[in-house]
Amino acid sequence: AKKKGKNQWAMYDPTFEQERIRKSLIRQRLHVALEQHAISVYYQPIIDMKKNQLVGMEALARWNDEELGFVPPNEFISIAEEDGFIIPLGEYIFQTAVCDLKRLHEQGLTHVYVSINLSLRQLKNEQFLSFVQQLLEKTSLQPNHIELEITENIALSDEKQVIETIHALKQMGIRIAIDDFGSGYSSIGYLRHISVDTLKIDKSFIFEVTTNEHTAKLTEAIIALAHRLHLHIVAEGVETDQHVSFLQSTHCDKVQGYFFSPPVPFEKVVKQVQAAHI
Ligand code: C2E
Ligand code: CA
Ligand code: CA
Ligand code: CA
Repeated sequence: AKKKGKNQWAMYDPTFEQERIRKSLIRQRLHVALEQHAISVYYQPIIDMKKNQLVGMEALARWNDEELGFVPPNEFISIAEEDGFIIPLGEYIFQTAVCDLKRLHEQGLTHVYVSINLSLRQLKNEQFLSFVQQLLEKTSLQPNHIELEITENIALSDEKQVIETIHALKQMGIRIAIDDFGSGYSSIGYLRHISVDTLKIDKSFIFEVTTNEHTAKLTEAIIALAHRLHLHIVAEGVETDQHVSFLQSTHCDKVQGYFFSPPVPFEKVVKQVQAAHI
């Protein structure tokens, strides 16, 4: 970067340029990674506190690139969303997660469900429903063992096609969860229009339940709201035993977080399911 004078700093921003280069590199490498099956899917256990049992697992994409090193999903997912690459990438993740669940069920561990994150672009894709349908037929899995996580922004989308796709998924028997519930600035008005099965309280709430009384009351109220609406509730970001005691005392159904386990490879989550099953 050239420094011509004080007032010209804004003309050329080297960090912006670096970001642009990294983005295009990620884009290129991501295509290669998918072709070579270098993207893997990790699973984070979801624990039912009343049953004291591992009942579900959230699929989370992982990518360790030969050149770029570990690239966090927040970074590569949003890049893949920009250019539509999320469609083949999302299908790959979806298919991997469903096939892994199938393998788990074949071992007799049929009480476990898988939760898969969806992007808006995937719901807007006209082939999405038939993709899901075919996968269900191929694996003959019970659809109520698949939960799809959408964010509030997606739920708020007033596009007819998106709402209809969500309804069609529900019709198939697939469950819908609202991810990061309570984060951002969205209204909960969408709950009038789309029927969901699960609310996942955003981890920013959980981080504060032991230090901020207001957040604690709000969290308690969200849990009560969910129960009143007969929705399942999952607390994310459960890191300490204080978090666990709080969530027990407020009757939160399910929990997920580093306190129990980080996201782990499939082979490891299988062991966790087996251990929790005995
Ligand atoms: P998310 O869906 O909210 O996923 C939860 C994130 O919180 C994960 O980060 C998980 O590793 C992390 N986490 C779990 N327990 C704890 C905890 O106790 N404390 C803290 N601080 N963090 C915890 P990760 O895997 O880096 O994923 C980040 C985001 O990337 C996800 O947020 C999701 O929005 C997106 N993402 C990941 N995989 C996929 C995917 O396959 N498809 C789509 N569309 N998005 C994905
Ligand atoms: Ca999620
Ligand atoms: Ca989340
Ligand atoms: Ca998120």
